[in-house]
Amino acid sequence: MTLTVVNPATEEPLAQVEQAGVGEMDDAVARAKAAFPGWRAVAPADRARLLRRLATLVEEHGEELARIESQNVGKPIAGARAEVGMVAQVFHFYAGAVDKHHGETIPVAGGVDMTFREPMGVVGLIVPWNFPLNIASWKLGPALACGNTVVLKPAELTPLSALRLAELVLEAGIPDGVVNVVVGPGSVVGQRLVEHPDVAKIAFTGSTEVGRRLMRDAAGTIKRVTLELGGKSANVVFADADLERAAAAAPYAVFDNAGQDCCARSRILVERSAYDRFLSFLVEATRAVRVGDPADERTEMGPLISAAHREAVSSFVDGDPLFRGETPPAPGFWYPCTLVEASNDDRVAREEVFGPVAAVIPFADEEEAVRIANDTPYGLSGSIWTRDGARALRVARALDTGVLSINSNSSVRVSTPFGGFKESGFGRELGMHALDAYSEVKNVFYSTD
Ligand code: NDP
Repeated sequence: MTLTVVNPATEEPLAQVEQAGVGEMDDAVARAKAAFPGWRAVAPADRARLLRRLATLVEEHGEELARIESQNVGKPIAGARAEVGMVAQVFHFYAGAVDKHHGETIPVAGGVDMTFREPMGVVGLIVPWNFPLNIASWKLGPALACGNTVVLKPAELTPLSALRLAELVLEAGIPDGVVNVVVGPGSVVGQRLVEHPDVAKIAFTGSTEVGRRLMRDAAGTIKRVTLELGGKSANVVFADADLERAAAAAPYAVFDNAGQDCCARSRILVERSAYDRFLSFLVEATRAVRVGDPADERTEMGPLISAAHREAVSSFVDGDPLFRGETPPAPGFWYPCTLVEASNDDRVAREEVFGPVAAVIPFADEEEAVRIANDTPYGLSGSIWTRDGARALRVARALDTGVLSINSNSSVRVSTPFGGFKESGFGRELGMHALDAYSEVKNVFYSTD
């Protein structure tokens, strides 16, 4: 079976890719299993050198990878370049981390007690279509640094950058079988990866619904699982904030990647006393978002990933929204930047839209802001805007969410932990924290008697 990969900005076919089934997935797991003893035995400095070479190759092929990602996902080219830049940084970071993630010696009676960080074996990486290469690198970097071999399953809608990366992995000198990419339907090859007895761990990014199912399917083999799932994050703006700055930044915290971002601050909570002023700034800032051809250097927002997804996004908006932007004419799966006034009980404020739709919600005071922000099954990211430093820290501690920013909407960095509370999942990616999720702690007692 072949799969036709489509450019969402033109609806034209981009490539034909062979679609794998259960047999091909089993072959990939067998290759990863066979490569594991050799890869775990590579000396740390050599493993670091190979990862560094991969990082350099990603830099050298940065423009090519950015164009692949831009065409396959419909991302503006400027954003795609920044994402590929992060992929290279991720491999550089984990190259440097290989020999800095180590065990301890623990004082005990009668001998020496020491711990080791052991690789797990074959690790399955299942990634979504919204940031295909970026999210793959967040998992590949720590998995390889710890000495695991991997099977990577990209989303069927966006397999092209992962396939190209697999070639660069070999060019870097990483041995055959250490990184295996399998393209096929999640419900077939993804599920087989989750249930496969020779796979030690699954790292998944995607919908909460599939994450829930995956946890159940992984239980049969007591597989380790880390989940990075959906979000419905709050951007909390207090009346004492720099309102113009908060409003100028707010659209990009929702409409970046056309809202297809688990970190999207898609509930904008505004203190009632500043509501009207903030709203007028917000509408102006949203009107200024440049929507159009992803290949244009100035474009800030492209189309949605597919026609089916546009259908799902439109179902969240009925009647006259507060603001609806413009889109280019067909073809392309376009959807305009949209602001709606809402209460936190409305569907648009409860469910992950995963499109360029923001719900604006007023609040009376700090207590109500925290209550509304936490009144969601999710807990991934969020922002707090205020000039009152004590309040900023009070609210940051009170919010049930994994990743926060104060007077900023930027909370994802190579060296800092990323992950969710509640139904946004568990386990941390990026930074040194991620290494814990790709290794087992072994405790050894050595008697000196
Ligand atoms: P999914 O959760 O279905 O897909 C994510 C990945 O999981 C894809 O690689 C998919 O494969 C795979 N997959 C699907 N079913 C299974 C399964 N049974 N076992 C193992 N792997 C599986 O997300 P969708 O693409 O369907 O998007 C739906 C919604 O999910 C979005 O609208 C959004 O709300 C949310 N989402 C959140 C993301 C995040 O970053 N947290 C990312 C993507 C989506 P394939 O697609 O090839 O079938």
